[in-house]
Amino acid sequence: MAATLIQTANVKGTAKATPRDSRVNILGLSKAEIKAELSKIGVEPKKLRMRASQIFQWMYHHGVTEFAQMTNIAKPMQAKFAQAFSLARPDIVERQVSVDGTRKYLIRMGPGIEVESVFIPDVSKTGALCVSSQVGCTLTCKFCHTGTQRLVRNLTAQEILLQIIVARDDLDEWPTQQENRKLTNIVFMGMGEPLYNTDNVCDSIDIMSDETGLSIGRRRVTVSTSGVVPDIVPMGERTNAMLAISLHAANDDLRTQIMPINKKYPLAALMQACRNYPSLSNARRITFEYVMLKGINDTPKHARELITLLQGIPAKVNLIPFNPWPGSDYECSDWETIERFGQIVNKSGLAAPIRTPRGRDILAACGQLKSESEKKRASTLRREQS
Ligand code: SAH
Ligand code: SF4
Repeated sequence: MAATLIQTANVKGTAKATPRDSRVNILGLSKAEIKAELSKIGVEPKKLRMRASQIFQWMYHHGVTEFAQMTNIAKPMQAKFAQAFSLARPDIVERQVSVDGTRKYLIRMGPGIEVESVFIPDVSKTGALCVSSQVGCTLTCKFCHTGTQRLVRNLTAQEILLQIIVARDDLDEWPTQQENRKLTNIVFMGMGEPLYNTDNVCDSIDIMSDETGLSIGRRRVTVSTSGVVPDIVPMGERTNAMLAISLHAANDDLRTQIMPINKKYPLAALMQACRNYPSLSNARRITFEYVMLKGINDTPKHARELITLLQGIPAKVNLIPFNPWPGSDYECSDWETIERFGQIVNKSGLAAPIRTPRGRDILAACGQLKSESEKKRASTLRREQS
C-alpha cells in the first residue's frame, strides 16, 4: 500500500505533476466535507452520515487507496464514488533517510507548492512527524532557514493531513494500531507559523484526532508558535493540543533583535497568553524552545533571565543546539556552554533537556527546512497547471 517513492536527490524537481484529474480528491477531508461531496453526487440525505463515516474509516483507519477496497459498500456504489472522487496521494518529490533514522519528505501539493515534513523516531518508542503549516513563512526569525523563504501560501487542512498519510504509507502503518505505533505524535514544527493559519491547523487537528480514523490523541499533538499572541488561547480552547513557544530570548531587546514578531507581541503579552492557556497544569506543561546561539543568548545571565521569566508557569525548556544552514549568520554555542546553561536552569527546578539534533546530515533538523517553492505570478501558475 506504500506510495511510490522517489529516493534519490537527482530527481529533485523533475517529478511530473499528477495528470489532470477532474475528480474531487476527498482524502484529507473531514466527515462534514465528505458528506457535502456525497450530497453533490446525489447520495440520499438519510444515508449521508453513514456513508461519510464508512469512507472516513476506510481512508484514515485502513489507509485504502481505492474505493474497490471499501468492502462494506456495494460494488455499484463503489463505482459511482470512484467516478466522482479520488483518494490520491501527493507526489513525493524527494525522500531522504538520515543515518539516525530520521526521514525527510519533500511533497508536492500542487504546481509550485512544495513542503517538507520530517519523521523523527525516538528511542522511547515514540515517533513524531513534524508537519508544515505554510509554504514559506512571513516571519523572518534570524536563525531560521524557513524564514528566508517568502510565504507562498497557507496549507489547507487537507494538505496538512496528506503529510500524515504520506508518512503512514511510507512507514507501512495501516491499519491504524492502538499499540506499538511508529508514528505516535504530531508536531507543528515544520515550515511556517501555524498560528498564521489557525483555522486550517485547528481543522486538521479535529480530523487527525478522530478515534475512528488516524486516532492521534489531542495531547499527542503539539502546536509550536513564535508567539502569535491573539491566537494562542483560542487555539488551545478549540483543539486541546499541547503548546510549544519558540522563545529563544528572555528579554525584549534581544528577542526583538532575533525574532521580529516580538516587536508586535512583546514578552509580557506572550507570557500572559501562556498563563491563560487552557488546561495548563504540571501534567500539561508548556514547552519553551530555546535555540543556543553562540555569544548571543547563551550566558549564565541569560539563563537567570529565563528562570525569572518562566516563574509560576508550568513549563519545560528544550535547549536546541543551533542547526546551521547554508548562509546562516550564527554559530552553535559550545557544548560546555550549553551544559552550563542547562545546569543553571535545571537547578531552579525547571527541566531543561538538551535536544540531540536529528537528521542534520539531510538538513531535516529544526529550522533547516526550506523548499524551492517561490511565490509566482498567478499567470505562471495557470500556465504550469494547463
Ligand atoms: N513557526 C513555528 C514552528 C516552526 S519552527 C515556530 O517558530 O515555533 C520549529 C522550531 O525550530 C522553532 O522552535 C524554531 O524556533 C526552531 N528553529 C528555527 N531555526 C532553527 C535553527 N537553525 N536551529 C535550531 N532550531 C531552530
Ligand atoms: Fe517562521 Fe518559525 Fe522559522 Fe520564525 S522560526 S521564521 S516563525 S518557521
